[in-house]
Amino acid sequence: MNTNRQWLLAHRPSGVVGKENFDYTESSIPEPSDGEVLVRNLWLSFDPTQRGWMEDRPSYLPPVKLGEPMRAGSIGQVAESKHPDFAKGDIVQTTGGWQDFVVAVPNQGVMGLNKVPDGISPEMMLSVLGVTGLTAYFGLLDLADPQPGKTVLISGAAGATGSVAGQIAKLKGTRVVGIAGGPEKCRWLKEEGGFDDVIDYKNENVNERIGVTCPNKVDIFFDNVGGDILEAALNHLNLNARVVLCGGISGYNATSPIPGPSNLMNLVMMRARMEGFIIIDYMSRAGEAIEELLGWIQSGDLKYQVDVQEGFDNIPDTLNRLFTGKNIGKQLLKIADPI
Ligand code: NDP
Repeated sequence: MNTNRQWLLAHRPSGVVGKENFDYTESSIPEPSDGEVLVRNLWLSFDPTQRGWMEDRPSYLPPVKLGEPMRAGSIGQVAESKHPDFAKGDIVQTTGGWQDFVVAVPNQGVMGLNKVPDGISPEMMLSVLGVTGLTAYFGLLDLADPQPGKTVLISGAAGATGSVAGQIAKLKGTRVVGIAGGPEKCRWLKEEGGFDDVIDYKNENVNERIGVTCPNKVDIFFDNVGGDILEAALNHLNLNARVVLCGGISGYNATSPIPGPSNLMNLVMMRARMEGFIIIDYMSRAGEAIEELLGWIQSGDLKYQVDVQEGFDNIPDTLNRLFTGKNIGKQLLKIADPI
């Protein structure tokens, strides 16, 4: 391979993202300098937050610049190393972006560069042991403190983050109810994920069904969705409830500001706490989470699903699967096999 295929951000989106927001180009393979590592991307991670990175507005990371490769988490193989800790052939995790090759520098914040431990597959490293698994782990355990017997409600429950959060909540002895779109995802949650009950938000009245499925009210609401589902959940809070704002995917493609929940005063009445978080603040503690998550996977207590698309041409269209709910589990795309 002599060229570096790239998808560059060409136009900032309004509404749903499409191929027209990106330009395909082929450039020369970059050269690493001393202390740098050239990585050939093998797998890409797709994350709802990428939609936010395309907007020119203040956030927890700077926006992707127009004309730059689209930012994305990745697993790759070291093609050339000018850093003593990395050797040609190593399998590594970095922020490789929508391109074949990236020059990565160890210890450089979000770009990062870590070796993938032996025995851990790329699929696992980019999902249940990656950003989404860590988000579920710290979001639930640090912000919500699930205690046995409490009721935990999770939106986006069949997704990469929600499915792990729900299963951790079960491991902590809580009663867990998941909200997801469609019978197939709801069936997986009950039969494989061990959720106590489910709500199919595409076919059921969410507000009514929370009342039925959470007879003791909601002690913890782990929200991935926002909008109407957040508002419905706030109607059913228990005293001293915790609302973890993990994400609000229902609004990421909105073209005008989304109204907040009309029932925020329920937080006052129920002496409840609503708190947001961003997983990058927890990265120094990733090791403790990975160790425990891996233990649960090995004991069969934690299941995860990955949705693997293939082909460099399909990269832009794959992002949208997250917003249509087509992804069954963590959305990944495989670009190439290791050499
Ligand atoms: P998922 O694997 O959960 O995929 C996204 C899912 O969102 C879809 O499968 C779909 O499921 C659901 N969805 C899409 N549009 C809507 C809608 N309009 N209403 C309801 N559900 C919708 O993705 P992730 O696990 O990567 O991300 C889940 C959430 O977690 C996102 O909000 C993301 O931003 C957030 N997040 C936050 C982090 C943090 O640091 N705070 C870090 C990582 C993720 P369905 O078929 O059920 O509709």
